[in-house]
Amino acid sequence: MKLHEYQAKALLAAEGVAVPPGFAAESVEEALAAAEKLGGNFWVVKAMVHAGGRGKGRFQGVATQEELEKVVQGIPVEGGIGGVALCKSIDDVRAAAEAMLGNVLVTKQTGIDGVKVNTIFVTVGADIEREIYAAVLLDRQTSQIVLMCSSEGGTEIEEVAEENPDAIVKAYAHPLGGLSDFQAREMAFKLGLGDNKKSLFSGIKMFKDLYNVFMKYDADMLEINPLIVEPSGAVVALDAKMSIDSNAFFRHKELFAQEDEGEKDPYEAEAEKHHLNFIKLDGNIGCMVNGAGLAMATMDIIKYEAQNRGVEAAPANFLDVGGSAKHEQIKVALELISKDPAVECILVNIFGGIMSCQVIAEGVLAAIAECGLTVPLVVRLSGNKAEEGKRILAESDLAVITADNLAEAAQKAVSAVQK
Ligand code: GDP
Ligand code: MG
Repeated sequence: MKLHEYQAKALLAAEGVAVPPGFAAESVEEALAAAEKLGGNFWVVKAMVHAGGRGKGRFQGVATQEELEKVVQGIPVEGGIGGVALCKSIDDVRAAAEAMLGNVLVTKQTGIDGVKVNTIFVTVGADIEREIYAAVLLDRQTSQIVLMCSSEGGTEIEEVAEENPDAIVKAYAHPLGGLSDFQAREMAFKLGLGDNKKSLFSGIKMFKDLYNVFMKYDADMLEINPLIVEPSGAVVALDAKMSIDSNAFFRHKELFAQEDEGEKDPYEAEAEKHHLNFIKLDGNIGCMVNGAGLAMATMDIIKYEAQNRGVEAAPANFLDVGGSAKHEQIKVALELISKDPAVECILVNIFGGIMSCQVIAEGVLAAIAECGLTVPLVVRLSGNKAEEGKRILAESDLAVITADNLAEAAQKAVSAVQK
């Protein structure tokens, strides 16, 4: 689950990490009230969307199509307002809030379609002496948690990795001992924070705190870009991108309750509610499968058949209904698939182990009874109660195309979409 910057910063602040104070706002009035409350004469208004590169982003309807295309390609665009606005007066705050709220921001990471901004974050503006990059991540190669930093803050880490890989410094945390003091200190020195006593100690504390927040909240990513050094030497987290491992849902229910569903694919959000593993794809064959392995194999074999026969066919989704799906879930699964206008055929491929093929057949019939069936349906049932399942489908008056094995099922599905 992705957190918004203001949500991540609230967690960080609660754990003692230095972040500029701020308030989230959903209207211009709220934004102005936030700025008044924060006081001072320098604020930053930021668009709360789950995408980076907001600073260099531009808004639809304001920027030209040509400019938006440049943004997506990462080419700088001069002038105009982006998703991060530095404001020197209350009027600037108002203008930024008006420009952002309700409008669609395009950044290098959103693609040309952009994302609508529903919430903004009004924070105290910071004076920046240096920008650093810091992230705590799960390194899948070493199966360890790594603190990864670069002295080139503000720039995307992928760019640094390509152009100046030596600028990236890593410290691997011990699985039991965690990130030790000496590692945090070494990191601070390597990033040049050792020149000043304040930045040295502030940096050491920051690295340890970031690691601790990552662990405490079962994060799978915590990225601070930029981590800044202020003229006073204080090290402050200016931006925060954080996501929580969904498997830790039961440990952080309050956190998950804050999730912004607005940015999720509506099909995926619906599937999640019913504990279905569903990922929307671009193809035209809707797949309902049990078991992630079989789901992958089904997608592969569809592509294989399509390629072999030169037919434009591809999976429209990945869907694993799991091993213990009930009628209701099967129904929801089939509904989700058939709601997708791109779907021209549905392939149900079930290998019944714990899952009973009878439940699948009944669920499929119930869904069709409710929503109808407008595309060909290919069903392959095998294993537990397969005969019962097949009989139920055969006795219904539906034109179900049956198959006895996976290859045959894929062939029939691909044939069904062949023009
Ligand atoms: P991103 O573009 O989505 O990564 O948003 P960031 O929060 O990282 O902001 C982008 C850039 O805006 C930063 O790298 C800074 O250069 C600048 N910026 C953001 N907040 C402040 C601030 O408080 N003071 C100053 N001077 N610049 C800021
Ligand atoms: Mg940033």
